[in-house]
Amino acid sequence: MTKNIERIIPQPLAPGMVGDGFRVYNYIPGGDNPATSVPQQRISPFLLLDFAAEVDFAPSNRARGVGVHPHKGFETVTIAYKGSVAHHDSAGNSGVVHPGDVQWMTAGAGILHKEYHEENYSKKGGPFEMVQLWVNLPKKDKLTKPHYQAITADQVTKLVLENNQGQVNVIAGTVNGTTGPAQTYTPVIAANLDLNTGAQFTTATPSGYNTALLVIKGSVEVNGQSAPNHSFVLFANEGEEINITATESATLLLLSGEPINEPIAAYGPFVMNTKEELIQSIHEAQSGKFGTLK
Ligand code: MN
Repeated sequence: MTKNIERIIPQPLAPGMVGDGFRVYNYIPGGDNPATSVPQQRISPFLLLDFAAEVDFAPSNRARGVGVHPHKGFETVTIAYKGSVAHHDSAGNSGVVHPGDVQWMTAGAGILHKEYHEENYSKKGGPFEMVQLWVNLPKKDKLTKPHYQAITADQVTKLVLENNQGQVNVIAGTVNGTTGPAQTYTPVIAANLDLNTGAQFTTATPSGYNTALLVIKGSVEVNGQSAPNHSFVLFANEGEEINITATESATLLLLSGEPINEPIAAYGPFVMNTKEELIQSIHEAQSGKFGTLK
């Protein structure tokens, strides 16, 4: 049975800045407007989706970005399309996320990090396009030791579509029999669909999973409805099949996950289950329990 579409949400009117390096449109949880917001419980296990839609940064000798900040109780996933991001954390890890790479960071019990334009990209400037996704952790895993999965472009699993229709790049979960490299704590599907003009692609996710598509590039028809550039297709929890026709060359981010049916207590970069845990988390961050980072 074809999946019903609950809403097609257009690109938000105005971007916001995260630090001075990330000009993002926020789709999850979105603003206060019920027509365009996507509440965290509705789209669980996804907590946040910021899309840094393509923008040109001028060359700069000073790397733009966001300074030291904490995360606790969930995972941050950085998916790079254009431009490169460097990161450092309080556990001594660092790295660069290049186009096609994915950084899947499990903040778990708490970490400090900073994220900014990689030095060479920054000096050269040019197009920058990225997604940051936050994935919740179930209560039993919230205090897991922080760690990374640095997934390089060549490690993302490719499913080449027949008749030159394009390619599916599976990051997590299984799409049409192809499984991505990311390890997740609850069932999550994340994949980029690169479709050539005229491509017809069919996939399916369980009706009980919360499922959405973000149109990163181009425009498509999804289950007979038009999904314009930078729109967000939120599927109802009915039906399984998704039929996509690329009316032009398109890139889509497919997200689907089994809901975590637990209370969400969120305050900025802390996502726990109760208010008491939130207060404790803020104390921990302030008292240096997450380590130090300059
Ligand atoms: Mn961060």
